[in-house]
Amino acid sequence: MELSAPSAAASASQRCEGRLSDCGIRPTAQRVRIATLLLSAPQHLSAEQILACLRAAGARVSKATVYNTLNLFAAHGLIRQLSVDGSRAWFDSNVEPHYHFHDLESGALIDVPVPAVAFSRLPAPPPGTEVAGIDLVIRLRKKM
Ligand SMILES: [Zn+2]
Repeated sequence: MELSAPSAAASASQRCEGRLSDCGIRPTAQRVRIATLLLSAPQHLSAEQILACLRAAGARVSKATVYNTLNLFAAHGLIRQLSVDGSRAWFDSNVEPHYHFHDLESGALIDVPVPAVAFSRLPAPPPGTEVAGIDLVIRLRKKM
């Protein structure tokens, strides 16, 4: 019997399966499906958007499962959870250090490279602590 070449979708999910294993996450079918969706491109998606995409594709998946899976991915460094406005959790497929523009009208998040930003003064961290990282969200609105 001749095996057919794997489709592009199959190889994308195989790549994601490998990335899950590399991060120490057991690659269940559900996890691979969520990882493939989020890691297919550099993007920022909310848990609600991911849930809507999965359901539109016919997946029967609960909100709790999606949240738990995304939190698991973030805890293992596969994706990054962003604190943008407190109303919803955003997940970033780009885990390299970077900052963000946040368009208040559209809700879109746009990556800002680290070298584009310079901090001229920061407070000294409290005794016994050190700065582990800095989050920066630059909020955008239409010019008046
Ligand atoms: Zn980003």
